[in-house]
Amino acid sequence: MKTLRDLNVRGQTVLLRVDYNVPTDKITGAVTDTARIQETKPTITYLRDQGAKIVMMAHFGRPKGKVNETMRFKMIVSTVSKVLGVPVQYCQEAVGPVALAAVQQLAPGEVLLLENIRFYPGEEANDPVFVQQLAALGDVYVNDAFGAAHRAHASTAGVAALLPHAAGLLMQREVEELTKVMTQPTSPVIAIIGGAKISTKIDLIRNLLPKVDFMLLGGALANTLLLAQNHKIGKSMVEIELADTVKDLLSNKLKLPVDVVVAKAVEDNVPKRVVGLGQVEPDDYILDIGPDTAKIYEDCIKRAKTVVWNGPMGVFEIEAFAMGTYHVAKAVANSGAYSVLGGGETVSAVSKNGLEDKISFISTGGGAMLEFLEGKTLPGVAALD
Ligand code: ADP
Ligand code: MG
Repeated sequence: MKTLRDLNVRGQTVLLRVDYNVPTDKITGAVTDTARIQETKPTITYLRDQGAKIVMMAHFGRPKGKVNETMRFKMIVSTVSKVLGVPVQYCQEAVGPVALAAVQQLAPGEVLLLENIRFYPGEEANDPVFVQQLAALGDVYVNDAFGAAHRAHASTAGVAALLPHAAGLLMQREVEELTKVMTQPTSPVIAIIGGAKISTKIDLIRNLLPKVDFMLLGGALANTLLLAQNHKIGKSMVEIELADTVKDLLSNKLKLPVDVVVAKAVEDNVPKRVVGLGQVEPDDYILDIGPDTAKIYEDCIKRAKTVVWNGPMGVFEIEAFAMGTYHVAKAVANSGAYSVLGGGETVSAVSKNGLEDKISFISTGGGAMLEFLEGKTLPGVAALD
């Protein structure tokens, strides 16, 4: 992978792909988490110091190749400007004469954000004509959008074939940190996997299992494995059709909950019970790992030298079922282990508890991080060779 040091950007017009697919408030449209914008600051500062003109491409939401007034970057450009600490110009188009004119009037060090790139069907199709139109906007291409690197789209992969290119500083850091944890982790190595669906994480579990000393499972995805062990799980979230498929994962390395927190409804202010595995009633929902499980997991994490974590241990969004995730987060933060985590909800659970500063590396990639840890080649990374 080529890095910024390999690329001459001095005085050049740099076509920069960033991941500004940020969470926003449904009612006000305000950006609710600016981390993805913040993380691109080092690359933008570097390029500005080199006197480059910066033309940013990004996507927002799923407009499916059509203009969608609610997904225009008009809404977030002032936030981008505030977080980056530099004026950011905005162009209502991403290719063609209007975009070209906006690029041509840039002075060295100035920053322009092009319109939502997914308004154009050529983006997701990686259409050669669209790729050419994008490439016409810059002298060189820099990709800092690790969060979109698992997509082979025009702006994340296609354009690299037409322009001198390099990874941005965030992209480089993501790839280096995740490579390090996969190829040369200090043992004992612990993986913690939780969250909603085992179907979205089964490849991750299979790829990580041989590399770790222990894997601790929680969240709804553990229910499918509990079912595979013939435990009763009541009305809990589960993927029954996978119960047979996952049976071969069961081993001493794989730790499952020994007790759970259950309730009759998935909401706050309903009575909850801590029960052993044999005591889940037919109308119970399993909503968190129990205190005995949390203790076992904490002890395991305490001894770890490397921790990889994706997925909460329970429905942490509801206070009553947040304890398991909180205990695990605290244990990881205080373990002194080299810790890497990612995933939308996992990151949100950790920052909700103010623990993000005690984590060695927090990935900005949800799906992209999962695919990287599954051992897959990411098209956006491969294109930067
Ligand atoms: P991440 O975004 O960190 O990769 P996921 O998207 O896989 O995580 O899963 C997060 C979601 O899983 C959370 O919204 C949480 O409420 C839900 N969840 C965790 N445990 C359970 C459970 N026992 N029952 C239902 N939902 C759960
Ligand atoms: Mg998620």
